[in-house]
Amino acid sequence: MKAAWLASVLRKRARLRRNERWSRRELEAYQARALRELRDHAVARSAFYRRLHRGLETRPLDELPVVTKAMLMENFDELAVDAEVRRAGVEEHLAGLALGDARYLDRYWVVSTSGTSGRRGLFLADTDEWTTILASYARANDWAGLKVGLAHHLKVAVVSSRVPWYQSVRVGTTLESPLVRTLRLDATAPLAETTAALDAFAPDSLVGYASMARVLAEEQLAGRLHIAPRAVMSASEALTDESRRRIAEAFGAPPFNVYAATETAGIASDCAQHRMHVYEDLVVVEAVDEKDRAVPPGTFGAKLLVTVLFSRTQPLIRYEMSDRVALAPSGEPCPCGRRFALLSGIDGRAEDILELPGADGPVRVHPNVFHRVLEPVPAAGWQVVQERDGVRVLLADSRRRLGRRGGAPRARSRRRHRARGPARARRRHPEDRRRQGAAGEGAPMSCRHADVVRAPETEMGHHHMAMEEHGR
Ligand SMILES: [Zn+2]
Repeated sequence: MKAAWLASVLRKRARLRRNERWSRRELEAYQARALRELRDHAVARSAFYRRLHRGLETRPLDELPVVTKAMLMENFDELAVDAEVRRAGVEEHLAGLALGDARYLDRYWVVSTSGTSGRRGLFLADTDEWTTILASYARANDWAGLKVGLAHHLKVAVVSSRVPWYQSVRVGTTLESPLVRTLRLDATAPLAETTAALDAFAPDSLVGYASMARVLAEEQLAGRLHIAPRAVMSASEALTDESRRRIAEAFGAPPFNVYAATETAGIASDCAQHRMHVYEDLVVVEAVDEKDRAVPPGTFGAKLLVTVLFSRTQPLIRYEMSDRVALAPSGEPCPCGRRFALLSGIDGRAEDILELPGADGPVRVHPNVFHRVLEPVPAAGWQVVQERDGVRVLLADSRRRLGRRGGAPRARSRRRHRARGPARARRRHPEDRRRQGAAGEGAPMSCRHADVVRAPETEMGHHHMAMEEHGR
């Protein structure tokens, strides 16, 4: 089964490779055609889009209403084109998902957003969509010079997350085979364990969050890690110039930036010239301001709207993501020959490793610790705010949900209390208890309920979770 999968992904990847040779005109003609097909499909098959696009069927893309994650989740059953798809069923499926390749209704892979930007989103992919998603990840490897095939076995070490509903994890699980051996390490594990496992595995490709790749580069430079990957792939977070420089120093070449999202799969990645091309044959991206108007090239948008040209189960048309992205002005074509548009910067989903006071000195806490602890909490969203003497966790819409489950404290909005949510979560992830305890001893974690109204910026980076504490 796995070998068959790999074969179909490689076939799809070969088709995508042909798209990379298109002229700008061929690419634009293809995009227009693919967009028309997607819009016709959405209006014909999705009650949600039929209503949303009524009267606008022939208007250009940039005049269509934006679809937010809240809209997607609130209209979940209507938005999906399959009448059997039910949000409750999808959530139930996800709750029971272990590290495996199980499918909802035996035909849909389900992935969920991490909660970085607050509310959790659920995304489905049928076989065809899943193949394209996998091929988009293969493209990123390919551009970084990592070939996969019968004659090219690949050892990939991914230092990120083991949460089974993350897209990267599900992709790895589907592709796992003798051709692609994957070592998956938890970014929240003790560093010495991680470096020892990496030394033993000797990966061809090292994949991690930018912050984690930087940490591993420092380990390599300090002589505590001894690997020689052919490529370092930096994903999910903004890569600073300093990180880029240190990673190049440690591993002999600069990292390849990969911009992917659970909602869309690969959006853009670095070519051999270390320039980031948008996968324009798969997605249409619009960098826009707060009022959804296009910003000029070279300027960061307040958010990014994506239209996923291959989405069919849940059509995604002008879907809003909180990432701040700048498209490069169209200038000289890239020497790699691809005519896909270039990104000049990504400033989104930036997350930093928190340093908190611990019993035996500072404790470094990767944002994934919070993802793991907070995601099972029955809240609409969460945000972690670092303060001088600890961290503050805001939980959106949690009182009602906790209350419905029974036994939850009726929290006074301004009173600090021991976080019940994380305590519940720790019981579900006993392996986290020690690390959480270590960080928790010197760094009190307080928890407050919050309303979702506005977007403060936190020291953890650009969090666009819009929240306001009660009582303020
Ligand atoms: Zn290029």
